[in-house]
Amino acid sequence: MKCLGIEGTAHTIAASVIDDKNKILSDVRAMYTTEKTGIIPKEAALFMKEKKDFIIETALKEANVSFKEIDVIAFSQGPGLAPSLLVAFNLAKELALNHKKPLVGVNHIAAHLNTGFLFHKLKDPVYVFVSGANTQIIVLESKKYRILGETLSIGLGNAFDKFGRSASLGFPAGQKIEELAKDGSYVKLPYSVKGMDVEFSGMITEAIKKLNQGFSLNDLCYSLQETCFSMLTEVTERALAHTEKSEVIVIGGVAANKRFNEMLSIMCKERNAKFYICPIKYAGDQAVMIAYLGLKIFRSKKFQSINQLDILPRWRVDELKVNWA
Ligand code: AMP
Ligand code: MG
Repeated sequence: MKCLGIEGTAHTIAASVIDDKNKILSDVRAMYTTEKTGIIPKEAALFMKEKKDFIIETALKEANVSFKEIDVIAFSQGPGLAPSLLVAFNLAKELALNHKKPLVGVNHIAAHLNTGFLFHKLKDPVYVFVSGANTQIIVLESKKYRILGETLSIGLGNAFDKFGRSASLGFPAGQKIEELAKDGSYVKLPYSVKGMDVEFSGMITEAIKKLNQGFSLNDLCYSLQETCFSMLTEVTERALAHTEKSEVIVIGGVAANKRFNEMLSIMCKERNAKFYICPIKYAGDQAVMIAYLGLKIFRSKKFQSINQLDILPRWRVDELKVNWA
């Protein structure tokens, strides 16, 4: 059995074919980037429209299959930016109707969370999900994802990108901030943990203010990382303590950050918990995760019919029933 997955929630249009033995047959992506500004939703959607046909063709070619051999199509239904979600949805729907295939809508965050199971022998981890738009500490309890803590304003990746825009680092800025941080030292920025939740916008506002006052960019990058990663490590530790779980996995684009992984891994070691990192190649947006979870949902037979489907820009992961496991 084979699934064609299509991802498109923000900056990346991607397609992947995966089989029921979890073999990744293809993984094709195109990511919208900018030199100086942040992400412009309409431009990102235009970029995706331009690339979509090539992405699908290449995904099938790389997998060495035709539509005949595809059993189901899955797409990222939400959450995300509406213009991007529409490109992926319209593409997936058109292909499903033209080729008479079932169509499965996949929650993008649940797809990210499940990526770890493709590569690690995970049982029941605390998920540290840190992407562009999202920052959430999540566990699975009684077939539902429970968000134990989350950002009260913007996601961590977007926070980095916002600072990056002020410092003319382009989009995405996370990796550049990580590089610049290597030569920085600490200046004080607001540390904001409220119960299990975190807040990054005060920290970013202060960092931008300091940047305009002439503080060193290296120092600000270093201090941003130290502050927000410490905040998230603190909340993750409390999540482990409360739930008595013994595994942590970090996922999402920001999971590529070595300093963050170092902090989490030290904390886990001190608590005798196992620490896993989603392989960097699959930490950010891609379609492998959509195909993987889409196939699972398809096999569970619990999905909506094609004419009930629509994009869900604000679809929270804790609204789902996890009945595919
Ligand atoms: P995603 O939305 O999951 O695709 O992740 C994209 C986000 O990850 C962007 O906001 C990037 O700035 C951020 N990101 C990517 N690499 C790094 C890194 N090495 N350190 C921090 N953030 C990163
Ligand atoms: Mg994502």
